[in-house]
Amino acid sequence: MSTRPVYLDYAAATPTDPRVIEEMVKCLSIDGTFANPHAKDHVYGWQAAEVVEQNRERVAALIGVSPLEITFTSGATESNNLALLGLYQALKARGDPRCHIVTDRIEHKSVLECCEALEKEGCRVTYLTPRKDGSIDTQLLAEALEPDTFLVSIAQANSVLGTVSDVHALAALCKSKGIFFHTDTAQSAGYVQTDFEHSDVTMATLTSEKICGPKGVGALYVKRSAAVPLAPLISGGGQERGLRGGTVPTHQIAGMGKAFEIMQQEGRQDAERIAALRLKLEQGLRELPGIIFNGSAASRVPGILSVSFEGVDGHMLLPSLPGIAASTGSACASDDLKPSYVLKAIGHSDSLARASLRLSLGRWTTQEEIERALLEIQTVIPRLQQAGSMWNVKQGT
Ligand SMILES: *Cc1c(COP(=O)(O)O)cnc(C)c1O
Repeated sequence: MSTRPVYLDYAAATPTDPRVIEEMVKCLSIDGTFANPHAKDHVYGWQAAEVVEQNRERVAALIGVSPLEITFTSGATESNNLALLGLYQALKARGDPRCHIVTDRIEHKSVLECCEALEKEGCRVTYLTPRKDGSIDTQLLAEALEPDTFLVSIAQANSVLGTVSDVHALAALCKSKGIFFHTDTAQSAGYVQTDFEHSDVTMATLTSEKICGPKGVGALYVKRSAAVPLAPLISGGGQERGLRGGTVPTHQIAGMGKAFEIMQQEGRQDAERIAALRLKLEQGLRELPGIIFNGSAASRVPGILSVSFEGVDGHMLLPSLPGIAASTGSACASDDLKPSYVLKAIGHSDSLARASLRLSLGRWTTQEEIERALLEIQTVIPRLQQAGSMWNVKQGT
């Protein structure tokens, strides 16, 4: 059997848990709950609808909210679009004149590109610069709020650095000024204990694929008591209480629900095991000369380790590590070698940002794999640094 490289890219996608696959399969064939959950006229439809509602409860339970507050979507990207664009459109339709948004420079592209789209619609957007560790300062947010700010969107955990921001404190500040607060929890749900019922967060993006559920399904939590006006982005059929048209994919939702249930039952042990392995990796790397650990040492999700290597040519980094499947920054930016905008926003130069690795661990990462990865990085980095310094001598720099 050929050995595949050690998979250390869980922050980009996770393998689906076999227990999740088992539940999904039950929703597909003639003897299962394959029917349209909106078919009101027969038992097939009723049973499919029951599966959808049971899984809405599982999703809601992980974040401590009511299932009535959960709208299913095709993933975190769509949920972010619905939260930002849907809110703006609904407010505009009501004649609400507010048109200022606050977010930060290290959000996922799906938030940043929605903000750019809203700028074209005439909104103003303030992009906060995070602290060096990637967290967002409440005082900085306070200073950025304006009388016509209607929305603040800040992720709970950053997908490149793993840093967790205190979204509840940020949301409380917004609530005191009548501003809606949205957070993307794609990297944190299940790993960071979150009770949104007792939080001022008004909308939260959830996804399945980062916690061992299938891709292509997610949800948006919308706090009922906050009376958030939202316009659907996809119309037709009136599904999801009119917020998201299209036949609800029972198998996807069953998979997401099971993944969320597993996180609720096992997330804590999973997080402890993953954090211990990450710590082992971190300790092994600490001895390398010129290594920089990015992100927060204390406030973080367990599985993400972002490191930069001084004196290494970033173009050489991943090609020199064939035994490791990791990312140089974020999946969306890694087809060309543009330096990660996240690492640049925390102050790295282009070359240091390029010479960076995001190593992300998950449910099936083993001790043996960490040892294997560690050995390869420990062997390769000093060589690359040596090559880098020879190159610099030749260039006369
Ligand atoms: C992965 C990710 C997304 C995109 O999720 P999809 O479900 O694939 O759309 C959005 N935000 C963050 C923070 C992510 O990590």
